[in-house]
Amino acid sequence: MNPVVSCEHATARVPERYAALFASADARAALASHRGFDDGARALARDLSRALDAPLVAARATRLLVDPNRSRTNRAVFSEFTRGLPREERERLLERWWAPHRDAVAAAVNEAARGAVLHLSVHSFTPVWDGAERAVDLGLLYDPSRRRERAFCDALHAALAAREPGWRVRRNQPYRGTADGLTTALRRAFREARYLGVELEVNQRLVADAGAWRAARRAIVGAVADAISAATAG
Ligand SMILES: [Zn+2]
Repeated sequence: MNPVVSCEHATARVPERYAALFASADARAALASHRGFDDGARALARDLSRALDAPLVAARATRLLVDPNRSRTNRAVFSEFTRGLPREERERLLERWWAPHRDAVAAAVNEAARGAVLHLSVHSFTPVWDGAERAVDLGLLYDPSRRRERAFCDALHAALAAREPGWRVRRNQPYRGTADGLTTALRRAFREARYLGVELEVNQRLVADAGAWRAARRAIVGAVADAISAATAG
């Protein structure tokens, strides 16, 4: 299997042209929070890319500008800071900051050697949502109707349980793998024999301490490598 790694919410960066949209205290607080970027996701994506010798495509601007993990027709593709922009400006955001990321991931899938591509889309989520603690440490998001994705996530789940028995690893939590997102769009573009789309969703609780997060990344990277070996052998 040829791995390809992507990170849709890698950064809280705002391009200079849009700085004025994010000048308020509210906007700055949003950028610094889980709404602005997925804390830890870029480091995990980078480690996976290095260990697996896989191409890495990381978004270069905050999702609050335009979200590459939403369809262009999804209202949530824009945030409250950009939704009210004139149509031409919104089109420009899609063209300059949304499409290039989506196209680069699709190109990496296309350019991979023959056989199946394993696309790992790396994210993190906030431990507390709506006042309730989320009982998930690591979420594996996939389409249960795609046999190969299910089989890979079986192998990954087992490998994670072997390395980190204390982690609560959950399937299609805290989100569904078939919800609107980049992997869902790419499943429509590539047949099952060619494309496996799996989102890794890490609880930001694991990211909070630098040393513990380094160890957690090593465990995740090792488990992914184990699961690729298992899937290739099977
Ligand atoms: Zn994300």
